[in-house]
Amino acid sequence: RIAYVNGHYGPLSEASVHIEDRGYQFSDGIYEVVALRNGRLSNEEGHLDRLERSLKELRIAMPMHRRALQHVMRELVRKNKATNALVYIQVTRGVARRDHPFPKDAVPSIVLTCRTLPKPSPKALAEGVAVISQPDIRWGRRDIKSISLLPNILAKQAAREAGAYEAWLVETDGTVTEGSSTNAWILTKDGVLVTRPRSTSILPGITRGQVLKLAQEAQIRLEERPFTLEEAKEAKEAFMSSASALVLPITKIDGQPVGEGIPGPLAKRLRELYETYLAS
Ligand code: PMP
Repeated sequence: RIAYVNGHYGPLSEASVHIEDRGYQFSDGIYEVVALRNGRLSNEEGHLDRLERSLKELRIAMPMHRRALQHVMRELVRKNKATNALVYIQVTRGVARRDHPFPKDAVPSIVLTCRTLPKPSPKALAEGVAVISQPDIRWGRRDIKSISLLPNILAKQAAREAGAYEAWLVETDGTVTEGSSTNAWILTKDGVLVTRPRSTSILPGITRGQVLKLAQEAQIRLEERPFTLEEAKEAKEAFMSSASALVLPITKIDGQPVGEGIPGPLAKRLRELYETYLAS
């Protein structure tokens, strides 16, 4: 496998950054994950828009022009002979003597890696997956795709230890923000598709945005509003969205079946609409 580090392509096993990189010391950086499907980068512009926005919010300069970054992504895919992959992009504030304030003349570091896209498990698609709830202990700017992911990994680990696929993060007011690495959706008892609106409380998922568009086009009854864990447990359907999972049905929340306990028709339909969109 080949990685890209600050202008150089080389074996992943030898790729490294300095120990005083602020990403390593402070999580002072951001990332993106772009799926490559059948040789095409999915929602490339949306991911690059979000990358630029995350950098702007942290006042880190784009380490190269967008067009150059798009070229690097393609070169990396080519060098790895990839057709179905996840391209990971990370930008940090750069290398500087450890000190909290922004360094005066640090040069941002950029690394890209590429790995095989995990195939959706037929069992997960046929039966849906389980989620557990966890308190959302993250910071107040979850809209920035920061590499600081401790609360997310702790929640995901708790899910795995409970035999679940994902953790849904719950605010102190009882509302679900999102999953540890996915956005959260329900179809309410009354047949309304609900997902939390964009705010600083959630990451604006690129998949979420696209699924919203597709649902609107299909004239599905839709509300962007927060929903509680209680409401989710009484919902007809639940599912998650992300670049790697696409639309994945959830059939259990905290051990309780959602609806009939099998993937619902709306989740299946939205997954199909999204797959059709990706192939178009
Ligand atoms: N929320 C969080 C916290 C995430 O880490 C991700 C994955 N990047 C998502 C939502 C889904 O975003 P996307 O659809 O852009 O992959």
